[in-house]
Amino acid sequence: MSFVVAIDGPAGAGKGTITKEVAEKLNLVNVDTGATFRCVALNMIKENVGLDEEEKIEKILEKINIEMKSNGEIFLNGENVTKKIRENDVNNFVSPVSTIQIVRNKLLEIQRKIAEGKDVIMEGRDIGTTVFPNADVKIYLDATPEERAKRRMLQNKEKGIETSYEEVLENIKDRDKRDSTRKVSPLKKAEDAIYIDSSDMTIDEVVNKVITLIKEKYKK
Ligand code: C5P
Repeated sequence: MSFVVAIDGPAGAGKGTITKEVAEKLNLVNVDTGATFRCVALNMIKENVGLDEEEKIEKILEKINIEMKSNGEIFLNGENVTKKIRENDVNNFVSPVSTIQIVRNKLLEIQRKIAEGKDVIMEGRDIGTTVFPNADVKIYLDATPEERAKRRMLQNKEKGIETSYEEVLENIKDRDKRDSTRKVSPLKKAEDAIYIDSSDMTIDEVVNKVITLIKEKYKK
């Protein structure tokens, strides 16, 4: 048996922070699906593969190995890429990469496999609509683009990555547009997802709200 909590929403809505805290408090496995797309993007950058080079992308996908450690570190083909996948070259490349159908197919398989037999909280863009349409709890976490840009900037700073507000805001708006208008598995609130606007909420308030919603369904 596995219990699935799906957390979807746009870039910078707080999915990562909320998911991490809720996972720790309720002892759920935390799966960051954005990181899997970032790994494919980084792998393509490293191997100099363009967006329309389908055969080369297929080769990358055949041998790709993504590991998510319980301490939050991400390994791509054996290399620790936790920091690298958050850098600007990946930020700017990941959204178009995520529109490639063969990439989505492969990552869908990987994401479902990660959750097999486990109780997970999985964050992304299409978890409640595509990856786990029958998820036990579905949440759509949102915030204004300006608030999300501020949060992303602080996060980057903590990680030692220097970016300007304008740069981050532009990147967020650009990704919102791409993520919600793409043909394949667009960012969209599932009909049965609970909508939370976190713009004026503290992290604790959102965490508590999510925990309350999960506890209504999750009885160990
Ligand atoms: O969440 P994060 O910002 O790390 O995601 C990086 C990119 O991966 C997003 O901008 C989106 O294009 C893509 N993504 C996706 N589907 C998911 C998770 C992420 O398309 N489930």
